[in-house]
Order: sequence, then structure tokens, then C-alpha cells
Amino acid sequence: MSLILGKQFGVKPGVEISAPFDSPIATYELHQSQLNTLVGMCAKRFEFEHIQHLPKGSNVSQYRMSQGLAAHAVMDSVLSGDRRPLGTIMNDKWDQFVMPNLIEVNYDKALDEYESNVQNALHYINSNFDPLLVESEKRFRIPEIWQLSDKLNGVDERWSFVGSMDLIELDDATMTAKIVDLKFRDRTNAANNRSSSQHAMYALAAAYYGYEPSFKYVEFVRGKIIEQCVPTGEGETEWLFIKARQAIDYIQNNNYPINPSGWFCSRKYCSYWSQCRGKYEQDIEDENV
Ligand code: SF4
Repeated sequence: MSLILGKQFGVKPGVEISAPFDSPIATYELHQSQLNTLVGMCAKRFEFEHIQHLPKGSNVSQYRMSQGLAAHAVMDSVLSGDRRPLGTIMNDKWDQFVMPNLIEVNYDKALDEYESNVQNALHYINSNFDPLLVESEKRFRIPEIWQLSDKLNGVDERWSFVGSMDLIELDDATMTAKIVDLKFRDRTNAANNRSSSQHAMYALAAAYYGYEPSFKYVEFVRGKIIEQCVPTGEGETEWLFIKARQAIDYIQNNNYPINPSGWFCSRKYCSYWSQCRGKYEQDIEDENV
């Protein structure tokens, strides 16, 4: 791997990268979230979202995601120097992200959870990062991934990995990168974290730009902060390449198989349920009526 040392970390000035919800067919940029959906969840779901651009149904999954997006957006505003009162920033993000997806019957409970998550996340950042070095939503691009491993031989040379890290502290004195991904959840899910592509891809990005990475998932669950350190060694990087190869093969062959055996294949957790499996199967609840 050729290293790019020092301050150019991420993307070159003036270079734009795609958003996670864009279609990678047009950009040849593979986001870790797209890779997770294609290989770790259900490739058909990826097709509905990124290729067919079907509208998503409202469900628990969408609501949980909107809570996380709002909390992340508050963190980013605060760390980017937004000097408005915290309550004003939180209200803005709540209205922007959560309100359109709110399905909690108990509005106050949802709001309490949001406030607790934001306060705990800010406390965590203040306690664990150097305020002069920490950056949020740090974008990166690793170009021409075909060069990185023989596992990617033969993929189109335009493919790159791209993403955005929740929190990163780059220390140019020691050339280390402390990377943290924040998860706002209703229950802890260490196994899901471990099987994600995030830690491997983000660590690869840090190494590509010349930094020694460390990575932690930090979950905020019902008022608790749960840290999970995960290894980011050679094995994790090789596994990332194998998964990326599979993901790119799906896209290049326009072949998106269903995966109806995962926990997420349900009305509650798949936003495309009613356009896919739900069209053919009666819900258990319905059968019991
Ligand atoms: S309903 Fe199941 S098979 Fe269909 S897209 Fe969703 S997760 Fe995949």
C-alpha cells in the first residue's frame, strides 16, 4: 500500500465524495454502510435503496436511525463551533431528523432519550478527546482499491472506499489516529459492531494516510456509555477486502440476492418489507387475528 503522509488526511481540497445514500454505480465509491447492507444484511435491500430508489416505509428502524442522525448532527454542530445555546441546536436537529420519523407513542420518553444521549455523548467527547485535535464527520477516500490486495484483482480500477468518521483525533507528533464511532441504540449490540466493516475500513483509511490507527465503538444505551475496543489488524483488513469483492461483484453483475433469514427481515426492521417479503407473506400478528 502506498502511504500518503501527514496533513492530507481524508480527501484532497476541492474533491467531493458521494453521500452514503447515493448510488455507487455512478460514482464507483463504496461506503462502508453500503458494503454492510450488501454483504452483511440483504443485497436486495441495497438494490431497493440505492439502485431503484424506492421510498422507505416508516418503522422502528427508521425512527432509531433518525434519533442517531439527530444526535450525530448536534455533536457535529458543537464541534464545528456552533455557538448557539445547546438547547437551540438540539431542537433544530430534533425537528429536522426525528419529527418526520417519530413513531414513539410516548413523545416525552423519546425526547428524554434524545437529551440523555446528547448529554452523555458530549460528556464522553470532553473526557476523552483533546479539544484542539478532535474532528467530527471526517471524510476520507481511498482511491483505486484494486491495488490494495490481490483479493480485489480485476475489479474496475475506478472503485474507491469512502466514508465519514464520527470522531477522530489525529496526532501529527506521534502519527496516531484515535477513531471513535458513536452508536445511539435502545440495546447494546457488540456482535453487530464486530461484524461491521466500519472499524476495518476506517483503520485502513488512517493507515493509508500514514497514521497508526486505534478504533472504538461507543454505544449510548438508556443512559449508559458502553465502550468496545475492536482489533484492526491484518486479518480484519483482509476480511474487508473479501467482503468488498463480493459487494462489487453484486453491483457489477446487477445481481442482488434476498436474505430472508436475518433478524432484520421483518416489518419492524426492513423499510422495504411491504414491497418485498411482506407482499407475499401474511404477518404472524395478522394470522392470529
Ligand atoms: S424484506 Fe427481507 S429479503 Fe426483502 S429487502 Fe427486506 S430484508 Fe431483504
